[in-house]
Amino acid sequence: MSESNQEYIVISGARENNLKNVSLRIPKRKITIFTGVSGSGKSSIVFDTIAAESTRLLNENFSMFVRNFLPRAPQPDADAIENLSMAVIVDQKRLGGGSHSTMGTITDISPILRLLFSRVGQPYVGQAHMFSFNDPQGMCPECNGIGRSLCVDMNKALDMSKSLNEGSIMLPGYSTDSFDWTMIVQSGPFDPDKKLSDYSEEELEQLLYGKARKVATQFGGKTMNITVEGFIEKFTNKYIKRDVKTMSERTQQTVAPFIIEGACSSCRGARLSQAALSCRIHGLNIAEMSSMEVGELIRVIREIDDPVAGPVVKSLTERLQHLVDIGLDYLTLDRETDTLSGGESQRVKMVKHLSGSLVDVTYIFDEPSVGLHPRDVHRLNGLLQKLRDKGNTVIVVEHDPDVIKVADHIVDVGPHAGSRGGTIMYEGSFHGLLESGTLTGNHMKRPLQLKRDARKPAGKLHIQKATLHNLRNVSVELPTGVLTVVTGVAGSGKSTLINDVFLSEHSDAIVIDQSAVGVSTRSNPATYTGIMDDVRKAFASANKVNQGLFSFNSKGACENCQGLGVVYTDLAFLESVKLPCEVCGGRRFKEEVLAYKLNGKSIADVLEMTVEQALEFFQLKEVVRKLQAMSDVGLNYITLGQPLSTLSGGECQRIKLASELHKKGSIYVMDEPTTGLHMSDIGHLMEIMNRLVDAGNTVIVIEHNLDVISQADWIIDMGPDGGSQGGQVVFEGTPAQIIHAEASITGRYLQGTS
Ligand code: ADP
Ligand code: ADP
Ligand code: ZN
Ligand code: ZN
Repeated sequence: MSESNQEYIVISGARENNLKNVSLRIPKRKITIFTGVSGSGKSSIVFDTIAAESTRLLNENFSMFVRNFLPRAPQPDADAIENLSMAVIVDQKRLGGGSHSTMGTITDISPILRLLFSRVGQPYVGQAHMFSFNDPQGMCPECNGIGRSLCVDMNKALDMSKSLNEGSIMLPGYSTDSFDWTMIVQSGPFDPDKKLSDYSEEELEQLLYGKARKVATQFGGKTMNITVEGFIEKFTNKYIKRDVKTMSERTQQTVAPFIIEGACSSCRGARLSQAALSCRIHGLNIAEMSSMEVGELIRVIREIDDPVAGPVVKSLTERLQHLVDIGLDYLTLDRETDTLSGGESQRVKMVKHLSGSLVDVTYIFDEPSVGLHPRDVHRLNGLLQKLRDKGNTVIVVEHDPDVIKVADHIVDVGPHAGSRGGTIMYEGSFHGLLESGTLTGNHMKRPLQLKRDARKPAGKLHIQKATLHNLRNVSVELPTGVLTVVTGVAGSGKSTLINDVFLSEHSDAIVIDQSAVGVSTRSNPATYTGIMDDVRKAFASANKVNQGLFSFNSKGACENCQGLGVVYTDLAFLESVKLPCEVCGGRRFKEEVLAYKLNGKSIADVLEMTVEQALEFFQLKEVVRKLQAMSDVGLNYITLGQPLSTLSGGECQRIKLASELHKKGSIYVMDEPTTGLHMSDIGHLMEIMNRLVDAGNTVIVIEHNLDVISQADWIIDMGPDGGSQGGQVVFEGTPAQIIHAEASITGRYLQGTS
């Protein structure tokens, strides 16, 4: 092999999925960006060929014995893949992990913060694990380090606007003729005619949480010594701190509505033992630091100038700075990772790698710009460059023109999707791409168009005084019968406003998100959209047999694989291995069923058709309508029988959109529908959204994409910044107005459009 070839990852004759014998060279220690319409084959090269080969090579390092337990990594379909270094895939899969996984634990920042407290915190309490809520020594004994526990729902337990006599206590067993109520009133200090809202703080504390005490009380003409305690305290001891199983079902049902999950009463959500919480640096304990936004925390840490802490402070600030650099300064270390969005998850993973010391790694990113406002894209670019400059090879699949610009090398895949794609249209520099005449090149040169004839709203929906997360008492009107885009920098509060607040009040809205679709392993586009039902009927009547034969879970299905086409071989303790079914060869049905034909095609042939081919084959009105809807959302290239589990988040979102397209008078809510879409596909998406609006629907979209924002009827811009610096509506109006709005960062990015 020649010396210069060592500088490239060399791929020859790649044929995964739709790839047409693709050969290419990817420069090492450079940033290479793959572009092209969705379905063109970018992932087939980057994930199914390059990443797959790297995994396989890695597995080969293990002994045969260990390899038996690893998920099988088949050799990608290619003649040769040379000079590959270890690949790390940084994707948008959400970070699960439950309540014990936080931003701090996943980025390895929390252990360093604990080290800091064990070195310089006052008073000295012991070693570093005393500060870990995952460690038995550090965790709060009350909630076992979860930070939450069951408690009384105060909104339901009492009515502050009423007095005791008016029935201010709403808990079961405290009606104004009950024994417990009488005891409280007769026990002394409380004025039964005073509204609770007029109680002093001490009085209220006594009424709600007062410790058990003996009180001499007149009852039935006699003086009795009875025990009185705060009624919230009493209810908690009686029903919440007790094992549910010891209560009758009826009692459980009566008290359940008054119990919610809230912050642990002992650690108030901090998860740590009282000893750990007593230890402070500059007046702050570790829980308080963990609940500060990273942008603020880094300032506090920088002020610690204790020589003992020097190296720890340095490594802490370095890692925190990475979070700031990537635009996650609005997050807190105690944020649970399963509440992060896909884009945020990917950026958090990225930070983990930046702090690592690995070099000569091939990093693979899948649309890292997702969730980033144009203002913050340069930060992402900076991080990609940093990874490269450390000596790594960076490979990115991306649609955002502002990220594509920083590529050292571009590979444009096309020309179209599926069988009409799978070839390399262009390889070279960014400037070369602009002049290449490819779809990508041409679209990069096209200026933004600003919508001048915005539609007039039919009516208004209201959000009033929203305060969830960072929202600052937001009241805003959402116009109906138009296309509204909610935008703003990451962390400004868009999802909180729309997904959490608006949707909780408008549960009838149709939400089109990127979460996975399909309930079973047998689900595919045909079953999901309902096309399969019509197809089954057509096969049945053409052959005069029962339509049940053509169902995956009927007796017509292959018995060996139960209609899956693959068989799963379970291994003792690892992911099961999937192998094509030997009996039906992946065709899923019995021979006798495959013999029944519709216009010369078997049911298996139909399932192998792409949407585009099926459109040519079928004339059935309902089937054509559903196929056309899929084609309209840019899914021409998927096959009817492709398992839904192989679809990307963006594709899932679009297939949901396709199956909802025919509704009228509905509210549609979409979160970043341009994810996974090439610039040329966005025009298509806009057409669909406009069609929905013209049919009398209301469409509300959360987006950063300037093509979409500029074409909205109405824009709501959140900001001004992320986290505590955000949570306000900085602009509401039309695209023509936003470019003159000084307060709007988004407006600045739309200036200079035609
Ligand atoms: P891109 O990344 O450019 O959006 P992909 O590489 O994901 O495109 O897809 C290229 C083609 O291969 C498409 O027609 C797609 O439907 C098909 N394809 C991708 N993954 C699978 C799979 N697991 N099974 C069958 N077809 C697939
Ligand atoms: P955007 O959608 O504009 O990116 P979000 O609505 O996701 O913004 O976030 C707004 C603020 O609310 C941020 O400070 C974010 O960290 C916080 N936040 C969002 N979701 C949660 C959650 N589940 N728990 C705690 N804080 C959250
Ligand atoms: Zn606790
Ligand atoms: Zn089979």
